[in-house]
Amino acid sequence: MYVRHVASETRAAAHGSRAWAGPGAVARGLAPGRLGALTLTPVRGPGGRVEDMRVEACSAAAGRLLARPATALLGRRLGAEFAGQRDDGVLAALGDVLAAGEPWRGSLRFGATWLEVLAVPVGEVLVLSLWAPAPHAFREAEPAPAAGLEAEVAEQAALRRIATAAARHSDPAAVVATAAAEWLALRPLAGLALVRMGDGGRGLALVPGWVGPRAAELGRTRRATGADVAMARALAEGRTVRVDDAAHGRFPMGLAVPLWVRGRLWGALCAAAERGRGFADADTAMLEGCADLVAMALAQEEVRTELSAAARTDHLTGLPNRRAFTERLGGEVRLAARHGHPLALAVLDLDLFKLVNDTHGHTAGDEVLVEVAARLAAAGRAGELVARIGGEEFGWILPRCDADGALAAVERARAGVAARPVPPAGRVTLSAGIAVLGPGSGEDLFWRADGALYQAKAAGRDRAVVAVDQVPAQHSSG
Ligand code: GH3
Ligand code: MG
Ligand code: MG
Repeated sequence: MYVRHVASETRAAAHGSRAWAGPGAVARGLAPGRLGALTLTPVRGPGGRVEDMRVEACSAAAGRLLARPATALLGRRLGAEFAGQRDDGVLAALGDVLAAGEPWRGSLRFGATWLEVLAVPVGEVLVLSLWAPAPHAFREAEPAPAAGLEAEVAEQAALRRIATAAARHSDPAAVVATAAAEWLALRPLAGLALVRMGDGGRGLALVPGWVGPRAAELGRTRRATGADVAMARALAEGRTVRVDDAAHGRFPMGLAVPLWVRGRLWGALCAAAERGRGFADADTAMLEGCADLVAMALAQEEVRTELSAAARTDHLTGLPNRRAFTERLGGEVRLAARHGHPLALAVLDLDLFKLVNDTHGHTAGDEVLVEVAARLAAAGRAGELVARIGGEEFGWILPRCDADGALAAVERARAGVAARPVPPAGRVTLSAGIAVLGPGSGEDLFWRADGALYQAKAAGRDRAVVAVDQVPAQHSSG
């Protein structure tokens, strides 16, 4: 794809307008067939009960359906935002969907508006597709719908299938592939592509490439197609753009919709058509619907990555926490056993840290922990893991390292802490226990290192001890 020529325009677009489109847009959003997408995470109270749901992502169409600018809903709680939801049992219903772990389809009230909802739980994340109830819902007794309505109904059904794909797969490529297949069943299309903008608007990349019947030719073309031109303008102007007359001989027509993910311009979704098969208004609505769903999948993936990282990070020091440490240790023990590599583990504990708290206060103690954590992390090398595994206790995993190597590394780290005062406490020392993998589990390794730490404390602190069955035995810096 011919993407380089738009780099400068997209830089401007990164700061571009994303103004609320006004009441006209609300009406468009309420047209049947327009799907909105919301990504929610639970706010839990005592006993893990769901007390509210926080909006992690909100598509533009969802904003229109909920009569709020999508950006204004980010980070907000549903219960606080929509009066009466708690009493209506909406929050309880969403909590039940999360607990059951099964998709749910029904109607929910948001403020004064009733919306149809498809809720799909993905771990701790709940993905909602929203649409307005169709004013022409069919009943058995009614005559067959007119041709125009049939097309609309088919389109709604297609969008809902794409919505389900978007809720289930956080991989945007899978969603784009589903969208292309659904689209082709309804109307002609040369190809569909997802374009990602680099940080700060620098550079563009296709994720993963064109899909559709003319994907190979679209991927090879060196001249700007209608889709290229539409994409450049959509990113620069922050709105949907349709191009009918690009100079390209084969693909002069293109359609592009900017993708906003959690308030950021992420990229664009582009469609290409062959000469003589231009896009209609219905295609614009379809691509905007698809773009919302792709944006939802992207937001969902971001939220899940953040939740997973947060669950493995110690909030005070920013180091990996005990959970991350335990998971990694298990993996390294299996790897070392399989390949016959050595593996060393050190457990480090600050000396007389209670005294630091007693003398300087708990807040000062926290500051000391943050600084010591940073010094220990700096002593770790690539492929190693330094984690905070307890209050003032750290674990250090050293793959492919024997007892001598681990002792040298730990002594370097101990010197890094003890050599320079740690404000406001002054000189801080620590003791360490080291063990290397023998026959046995990772847990055994941990307890041998912990036993060596106990010996280091008993021998007067400010030293490292290698577990007794493994020479060399003791090392003190006095
Ligand atoms: P030793 O040399 O035997 O390890 O002595 P110690 O005082 O360090 O050991 P002890 O286990 O008796 O005390 C550890 C102290 O660490 C007690 C606790 O108040 C403090 N501590 C644990 N977590 C934190 C924390 O997150 N912040 C602060 N400020 N202190 C903590
Ligand atoms: Mg201690
Ligand atoms: Mg301790």
